Amino acid sequence: MLRALRTLLAFAVIGLLVTAASAADKIRVVATIPDLKALTEEVGGKLVDVESLARGTQNAHELEIRPSLMLKLRRADLLMENGLELDSWAEVAVQGANNPNIVRGAPGRVDVSHGIQVLEVPSTRVDRSMGDVHPLGNPHYSLDPGMAPIITQNIADALARFASEHRAEFEKNRQAFLARLNEAMARWTRAMEPLRGAKVVVYHPQWIYLLSRFGLSQAAALEDRPGIPASPAHLTRVIRQMKDEQIKVIIVEPWNDLKLATRVADEAGAKAVVLASMVGGVKGADSYIAAIDHNVNALAQALR
Ligand SMILES: [Zn+2]
Repeated sequence: MLRALRTLLAFAVIGLLVTAASAADKIRVVATIPDLKALTEEVGGKLVDVESLARGTQNAHELEIRPSLMLKLRRADLLMENGLELDSWAEVAVQGANNPNIVRGAPGRVDVSHGIQVLEVPSTRVDRSMGDVHPLGNPHYSLDPGMAPIITQNIADALARFASEHRAEFEKNRQAFLARLNEAMARWTRAMEPLRGAKVVVYHPQWIYLLSRFGLSQAAALEDRPGIPASPAHLTRVIRQMKDEQIKVIIVEPWNDLKLATRVADEAGAKAVVLASMVGGVKGADSYIAAIDHNVNALAQALR
């Protein structure tokens, strides 16, 4: 009996050691937002250990930099950034983390927006003092599943630069993910096809990539400008426009004021629909494909 217990204990200890060793062997990646965490996990598979600085329900434009975020960055091999100034707060956290792997210009600092065709680039210089949070164009490209091939290519390249011996595995994981995404894309395209041309109002102008992908258009935003709260006069205009153009849906982000959006929707005879503005933003949206699934289904249902 005692011997059996001893053997059992020995196995348990070995098990712990193996787990600790494999965790230590993994490439430590920090992503600024959950979408990039989810996509890095798809590409990196068992070879990566990924953490996200922002949570899915937060406003990714404004993250409070706490010591816990710096701690996450301290031992990171790679930092995946969204870029286009969505997550420029990451710089403050990096400066507090004292980790040369991920300082600006180091090979471990990865801007995932490389190669993305940016929408809503301002035609005039945007004065940041006015509080506009999209000065370089719309940074919310990861909401469009059609961008995932570019994003995952950037991620695969960065992982392969860090661990070139695993290049083939990263590419194999990426292709397997893209195959699943393609299947889902066919389903999403079918669901959205009858709604082509439909107009929606958004709370924060975050959805243009997703809407454009499926032929929908953004008629107005509740925010006066990106990141600037709605003024009563602006809301009155939006309500009138929604009635005139018979717009049936307001898209709301989990971090925005649902009460306000619902009040506007009620006045305009429309519905306020909460979509996952990032992976984990709503219940069930716990992978990249699941988040897009939720958004497409909720949007199609509300517009039907
Ligand atoms: Zn934004």
